[in-house]
Parts: sequence; structure tokens; C-alpha cells
Amino acid sequence: MRTPSTVARALARSIGWLSRHAGRGGGTTVPGVILLRLRPDAVAELAGPLGRSIVISATNGKTTTARLVVAALEAVDTPIVANTAGSNLLRGVATALLDAKRPTGATGVFEVDEAAMGSVVEQLAPEVVVLMNLFRDQLDRYGELEALADGWVELVDRLPETTTLVLNADDPAIAELAHRHAKVVTFGVDDASAARAAVQHAADSTTCRNCSSPLVYERVFIGHLGHWRCPNCDRRRPPPDVSVAAFDPEGISGSSLTVATPTGPVAVATALPGLHNAYNVAAAVATASSLGLDLHTSARAIGSTGAAFGRAERVALAGHDLMVLLAKNPAGVNENLRTLVLHPDPLHLLVLLNDRTADGRDVSWIWDVDYEEIFDRVGSLTICGDRGHDMALRFRYGGFPVDRLTVHSNVGDALDAALLTMPDRAPLFALPTYTAMLELRAELVRRGVADDFWKDA
Ligand SMILES: [Zn+2]
Repeated sequence: MRTPSTVARALARSIGWLSRHAGRGGGTTVPGVILLRLRPDAVAELAGPLGRSIVISATNGKTTTARLVVAALEAVDTPIVANTAGSNLLRGVATALLDAKRPTGATGVFEVDEAAMGSVVEQLAPEVVVLMNLFRDQLDRYGELEALADGWVELVDRLPETTTLVLNADDPAIAELAHRHAKVVTFGVDDASAARAAVQHAADSTTCRNCSSPLVYERVFIGHLGHWRCPNCDRRRPPPDVSVAAFDPEGISGSSLTVATPTGPVAVATALPGLHNAYNVAAAVATASSLGLDLHTSARAIGSTGAAFGRAERVALAGHDLMVLLAKNPAGVNENLRTLVLHPDPLHLLVLLNDRTADGRDVSWIWDVDYEEIFDRVGSLTICGDRGHDMALRFRYGGFPVDRLTVHSNVGDALDAALLTMPDRAPLFALPTYTAMLELRAELVRRGVADDFWKDA
């Protein structure tokens, strides 16, 4: 028998049930933790009945992209097993497989933490591996961006020839992996009008992975993503198989895209705002293409998919729309600010900064964020979190008037204070770190305006 022992499964499941009903977090990984203690190869065993699986990793965008890929597959009635509750380590994948009601023949879609990719890919043997980007994130957890990129090189070198690699051509460290594997589908952004003038402040990976020379950019889109080439060797951005040929932002309410594919262009109208979501859409279309799905059907399904909590999701709260934009690293926050600038009215902001393990203990990254770009657009600024005073200092040193911001010690007070300062029906934009996002979510659940986290799936 290749299935884990029935006792182990039953035990792991009941612990998950107890955890959920005792109200301790989402209870999303405890069963997986226990199962992996009992059976270290449990993921390989549990994944046996799946028809195939797809693994998606990135610093930014993996949660949203996994949702888009799930939508494309569901549009053609494919049964899915996914870790949609946001638990993206090996134990989260194990728990999703444990919870699967009908895994036989299903397609597994898993978003996976960058550092957990090695063990997950080894056990799942996925048909498709999607690698989207590597940005500086939680430095104290990972050490170096280079180490993660090296880890992904090893991962790619161990892949069987039959695995399809879906790679971001615009990220030099990711595109380099195309030289190490035969079956590759690349994606990127071609629309020159979406480019920025220069490599951003938060740019991370700007040296050639082949010869270490500084790269030259013809266009920059987000951070170090763009049209790059090495002046010293043959490395350059490969022409992508799937690309955003036209990107028309519609403020914070979404965007319209034309995505060029090997079988012709498809149109995607999405409620997900910003160029970072255009990359997510391109990654999802490239994945659908590599799976042989009908791309017009996929594009419609991808376009009609809403945001995950914390990824531009809107929640109705006391006559206002609350939009939550996860703020966990400079590149991601800069892109969110760039999207917020498109909002025509004064911005009412709730900024939440925690420094717990899942956020990264080092909050110095906030000094790499270009908050100054929105200073003259801010209508009100409410700050909260374990390190709220660090954030207030960041704004103050940037030149933001201190008498126009308030700092609060708990989320409920901060939310009330923010709502008090705002005109009727104005939207509130929340920029929380990961654990602050969970606290905000819990507060919204208490107020009866959002569902429990683990019911999200
Ligand atoms: Zn080079």
C-alpha cells in the first residue's frame, strides 16, 4: 500500500478539526505537521491518486496566480485540490491533500513558499512548475536572495525532462533557469507604455547570473523586472511565449489586458489592479497554455476571478469600501502605491506594521519603500501595529507632517479612528504586513463583515 496509515490520517484530521473548533487560527497546517512527523514522505504518498499537479512559487503574486490557475481549470470542469487557505509550506500541502474529498484524477494546484520548493517538488513530482519572481523579502529568514536563486537552480537541475517550467522572462534570475531545462514556457510584459524610466530604488537582482556583470535595462517594469541584457555575455531577456502586449490600467478598479500567446491574442478584463497583477495574469495564461487549455475560456475565467484576502480584496465596512493590499516587501508595496496613485480622490490609508516571524523581524525594509510618491495624495493616515512608531518615523523623516497622522496600538481602535476621519463613502486602503493582515481579518470577522479565514476556499 502506498497510502499513509489510516490511523495517521484519522489522527491528523481530528487534530485539524479540534484546532478549527477551538478557534486557534485557521487550523490549516496542524494535521499536516502531525502527519509529516509520522510519515515524512506523506505528500508523495497522498499525491499518488492525483492526475497531475502544478506548483507555483514567487516572492510576490503566488497566491493570486494560484487562484487564477484554479479558475482556468475549473472553467473546464477539472476537479481541483489546492492549498487555497494560504498555507504554503510542505505541511500546508500535506493538509490540503489530507482534506481532499476526491483526489483521484484531480489536478493539484499548490502555491509554495520560495524556500520550501525543494521538498515540495521532490515529493509532488509536478507536471508544471511556475517560477515567477524573486524579490528581497524577509531577509532575516532567508539570508540572501542569491541563496534562494541557487536553490532554484538545483531544483531545476533535478526536474525530469517531462516537467514543464513556466518562467518569467523579465526576471533575470528566473530567465537564467531556461538555459538548464528543455521544456520551458516563458511569460513577460511587452507593452512599453507600462515601463518606468529607471531601475527602482527597490531593485534586487541586477547582475548577470551567468557572468556577474551588471545588467543593462532597456525598460523597467517593477523593481528588477524588465527588458534586460548582459553587456558582457550572451544573456538577455528571451522573447516571451506569452506576453502582456497591451496593459490598460483602470485605476484601482482593475485593468484590461491583451495577452499574446502562441495560438493568438486573448483579451482579459480583470478587477485586479496594477501591473503586478498583469504579471500574475500572464503567468496564469502561460500555465493554462502549457496545460493545453482553451485560452479564450481560460482568459474569461481568469478575468472574472476576484482577489484573495489581502490582495486588493474589497470588504464593505460601515458605508465604506475597505481595500486590503498586503504590504510585505519594498517591491510589492511600491507597486501598490503606484496603483493607489491612480485613485482620483484623496487617499485614506491605514498602514499596519508588525515584525513577527511571518512578517520578518527586521523592519528596515520600510526605508526602501517610496512612500514619498503618495505624500501629496494622502487625505488621512492612520498607523497601527507592533512597530507602528517605526512606520510613523519613516513618514516623518520622509517629510510627511506629523500632525496629519495618528498611531494606535490595536487594530480595532485604528480602524475606528480611520473611519472617523473619512468623508462618506470614501474608500479606505489598508496596507498591512502578513500577521497584521490576519489581525485585521480577525477584526473584520468580529464585526461580521468578513468570513473566517479558513472558510475562504
Ligand atoms: Zn553575463
